[in-house]
Amino acid sequence: MNLILLGPPGSGKGTQAKILVQSANYIQLSTGDILRESRQSGTKLGREVAAVMDAGDLVTDEIVIALIEEKLTSIEGQDIIFDGFPRTLPQADALDDLMHRMGSKIDLAIELTVDSSKLIERIIGRISCPNCGAMYHLTNNPPKVEGVCDHCGRILIQRPDDNEESFRTRLLEYYSKTAPLTGYYYKSGILKYVTSEGSIKNIAQTISELL
Ligand code: AMP
Repeated sequence: MNLILLGPPGSGKGTQAKILVQSANYIQLSTGDILRESRQSGTKLGREVAAVMDAGDLVTDEIVIALIEEKLTSIEGQDIIFDGFPRTLPQADALDDLMHRMGSKIDLAIELTVDSSKLIERIIGRISCPNCGAMYHLTNNPPKVEGVCDHCGRILIQRPDDNEESFRTRLLEYYSKTAPLTGYYYKSGILKYVTSEGSIKNIAQTISELL
């Protein structure tokens, strides 16, 4: 079963994907994570990607599709959760083509819905572990020891694009370029909605029932 998690920044895609990786046998493919790795590389491409991400804009379809293609070939045959990809209609078309070539398909697309007024507070308070990827929130889901990852003990960080200015751009990008994907997957008959408010555990339960 291959699943796409759709939803605006702060809707909980990464958090829910990580729960599915732990509770079911899924591989999480997050283009945000892949691009963050690329920016660490110090290459010219990495520096260009970093500038785009920090501003809250979308990286070009060409770059993102090439990165996904490379990853997909290395995990062929496994159940995948796509987190943050596709984000545009050309990316959705490219993903369908890639999956088709691999004799596979997308089985389900879940749109995580949240009242947009709640997103900013989620984003500004978000902290994560640079080592194991565990995610926390300063007030809603704090680590046991302030600033330290419960799982691996590393110091938690805030993403450079988790600030109000970048968030506004990311949300606009989402509404203009990514939200139309609900129509794309509705047309394919694989779209479901999950309200991503309330406890993380209850939302995870709703998602696993859909699977
Ligand atoms: P995320 O970790 O999913 O919130 O993504 C962080 C940033 O990475 C986004 O704001 C974009 O700049 C970039 N990004 C991630 N996934 C994509 C994608 N599928 N297409 C274009 N840009 C992306």
